[in-house]
This record gives sequence, C-alpha cells and structure tokens, in this order.
Amino acid sequence: MTICRSGLSVLVLLASIVSFAAPPDETHQAANGLANSVRNGPAMSTLRELTDGFGGRVTGSPVYERSAEWAAEKFRSYGIKDVRLEPFTIPHGWQRGVASAELLAPLRRPLHVESLGWAPSTPTGGVEADVVLLNDISEAKLKASADKVKGKVVMFDLGRVARQDRAKLGRMMRAAYPVLHDAGALAVMLPGREPNNIINAHSTDWHANLAALPLVDLGMEDADLIRRALVTPGGKARIRLEVENQVSGPTTVHNVIAEIRGSEQPDEWVLIGGHLDSWDFGTGAQDNGTGTVSVLEVARVFAGLGRGPRRSVRFALWGGEEEGIIGSHMYTEAHISELDKCVAVINTDNGSGHPKGWKVEGRKDLMEAMQPISDSLLKDMGAGDLSMETTYDTDHGPFMLHGIPALDQEVDMTHYLEVHHKTSDTFDKVDPVDFKADVAIVAVTAYAIVEDPKAIAPHIDHAAVGEIVKTAGLEEMLKDAGVWAQP
Ligand SMILES: [Zn+2]
Repeated sequence: MTICRSGLSVLVLLASIVSFAAPPDETHQAANGLANSVRNGPAMSTLRELTDGFGGRVTGSPVYERSAEWAAEKFRSYGIKDVRLEPFTIPHGWQRGVASAELLAPLRRPLHVESLGWAPSTPTGGVEADVVLLNDISEAKLKASADKVKGKVVMFDLGRVARQDRAKLGRMMRAAYPVLHDAGALAVMLPGREPNNIINAHSTDWHANLAALPLVDLGMEDADLIRRALVTPGGKARIRLEVENQVSGPTTVHNVIAEIRGSEQPDEWVLIGGHLDSWDFGTGAQDNGTGTVSVLEVARVFAGLGRGPRRSVRFALWGGEEEGIIGSHMYTEAHISELDKCVAVINTDNGSGHPKGWKVEGRKDLMEAMQPISDSLLKDMGAGDLSMETTYDTDHGPFMLHGIPALDQEVDMTHYLEVHHKTSDTFDKVDPVDFKADVAIVAVTAYAIVEDPKAIAPHIDHAAVGEIVKTAGLEEMLKDAGVWAQP
C-alpha cells in the first residue's frame, strides 16, 4: 500500500471510498497496517506447524480433530476469547489404510491403485478375479450385464461420457455402485486421467456415506494396459486387489469458530472462512492449509487492532469440505435464524498463487459495490480483478445459496492443479511472497467490508439466487448434492 500525498490523489481517493465512515486516510492507514502485520507475521511458520505437524486432515479422523483443537488454541493465543468447536455429524467415519494390486495375466506386474475416499475394504487377503470392462453404466445396461460382473472386478471405461457431462457421469457412477454390488461385482476400478499413473484423492459421494463396494483409482497407463488386453479378441486380464480402510459409523466432526465482537454494529457479522480438512496423499498445504492459515492470520491482525471492529467478525475453519462442502452447509442449517445478520462471507480455498482478486459469484450489484474497494485498496496490492464466475465448489457456496453476498478469493491457479489432491500438495510448494500477499488481501477486503457502516450489498431472495444458479448451469449439480430446490 502507498499513502497518497498529492491533492489530486486525495480527491480521487475521497471519491472512490466516499462511503466509508472513517476518513479515507484512516482507512488506508488501517489497511496498510493490517497488510504490514501480515507481511511481518508468522504465516509460514503457522502453515508449517499445520502441514508438517499434522499431515493430511481427513474429515472425522483423529488427526483432523487434533488440528481443530490446535486451530482453536491459535485463535485463543491471539487474545480471542469466543472460540468454539461446533459439532456436526457425518454418517460414516473413514480413514485410509493400504491398497495394493497386481496384474496377474496377461503379464505379471504391480499396478498403481489407491482407494477412493469413503469406500470399504476388500475381504482380508484381497480378491483375485478377472477384470470386466464396462463402457455403458446406464441403468438398463447395468441390469442386462448382471451376469457378466458376478465375481469380477469391474473397470469403468467412460471416457466418452466423461467428456460429455462430468456432473451426469458422477450421478451415473453413484447410481451404479449399489447395482454392481447387488450383482456380485467384487470392486470397481476407475481409470486415471493423468500421465505417470498419478492418482488424485477424491470420493464420489456428496454426504460422506460409505460406498456399496470397494472403489479404487487405477493409474492411467496401468488402466490403458488392461483396456488394451481386454479389447483384444479373446483377451483377458486377471488381477489381485487388496484394500484395507478403517470405517466407522456416525462420526462427530467439529468446525472451528472464533468471533471478535463488533463495537458499533455488533449484531451484524462478517464471516471469514476456509476449510481445515484436506485429503491425505499430501499434507493439504495448498488445499487448504494456506486458506486455513489465511483465516488464522486475519484473526490475529484483527485481534491486534486495539479496538473492536465496527461489526462482529466470525472466523470459520470448516470440516467436511472435501466430502461435499458438509461443514459449512451444516453451519448454515444450525445458524439459520441469524443468517439475516450475516453481511458478507469471504472464503479462501484456491491455493496461494499470485493474487488476482475476488469472484463475486454472479452478482452484478456486489461487483459494483466491490469496485471502489478494489480501485482504492486492492489494485495497488495486485488484486484488482472482480469476476462474475459462480461456483459451488467450496464453502462460500452454502451462504451464497441463502442470498448472502459471498466472495471467493481468486489467485493464479496455473500450478494449483499440479498438486491438487496429490502427494505433492506439501509445504514446499507455497511461495511465501504470494501467500502473504493473498492473506493481506483477505485482511484488507474484510476490513473494508466490516468497517463500512453500510452493508456491502443486500441479501437477495430465493428467486434471484435461482437466476444466478441457472445462469451458471449449477441446478443439476446442486439438486444432486441435495442442497437446492429451484424456485
Ligand atoms: Zn479446498
């Protein structure tokens, strides 16, 4: 941040942030102070404590719960008194054990496999079976191929469908598993789509329900080898597959919530959040250790302001994001009666790439309201972009569906997918300069919204949200997730 000196720039500044209660210089000074405090602060060491200290933080696992306790303690160490672990329940707990597979015929070689999340184990000792290829998993076709899959390991070959409609594919796959289980299939293998047999951690259910039968991802080259064998006339493939996961019944998970009470409009609150849970191949650094530490750091610098902010500020670290945005959704259900006082939600979960700006989730009015903040404060920080893109891919989503102004941080994601849900999502991938710049942008944006006596934008009704959802093409996906009914 630079402090303007010339008369002209002061005039520009006045015009651009005229809605703030505090004089513009004061706002700039405060924003500058927050940004400096982030830059000189412990973001990297806090991130290292989280990632190298806890590793992957699968929702509901003991390590997730320990990381939630750690985060609560961090908030307290900043002097925040109101810190809560708020419970919600998922239908099944799940922790990864070991998965291994070997091709036995037409040649013998090890296969790259990993279990999908929330998939059960094979019987102890594993299964040995022929592989059958299914390239059509429509209900009718599955029923017709019941005999074909009995006692076999099924490999999906759905490239054509996958290219057409990913949401539809997910739905078809979820519907297929119980049918295949009932037909006596032993397991399902999903071919990878990345060279070098790289596997991404994921699950296929929206609600942390246990799958009907063992599901594994199979490396792309391994899958291609098996596919070629099976499409050769008279060809076959036989494998041995063993999966051992730890599965439990209904499991309590905790979101971590901390609040700094507002000094002038305390009943109104701004929520700053990101998910604490992660997948477990790496240590959840970019997804979403950096977002977690961003929330912690913004809490630290707000607590250090030396006065209560105008509005109350709630800091939220969510569980269950990776299994279907469960923790933040459950929070909106549990706090439904006070959502009308939620002025805005600020989410961070796109990694710590070079800053860009904010997604305003399809709201033109929010974009217009953000423009002065963007022009006067964020452009100088390299984050002046505002995007209308609408997604339901992280924890701003449940709030957006309630018509609450929601911002999701945008950063350069060029290198994000290289590590996303992979073994390489580790501390060493985080660039400290970009990361701290991203955190500072969250702090400054939050400050501008919290301190403005006027709400950044109004809540919109269900019909207006429906228009945004429709324009973004999200209806089917949201219905599938069970979080949306079209008005
Ligand atoms: Zn994430």
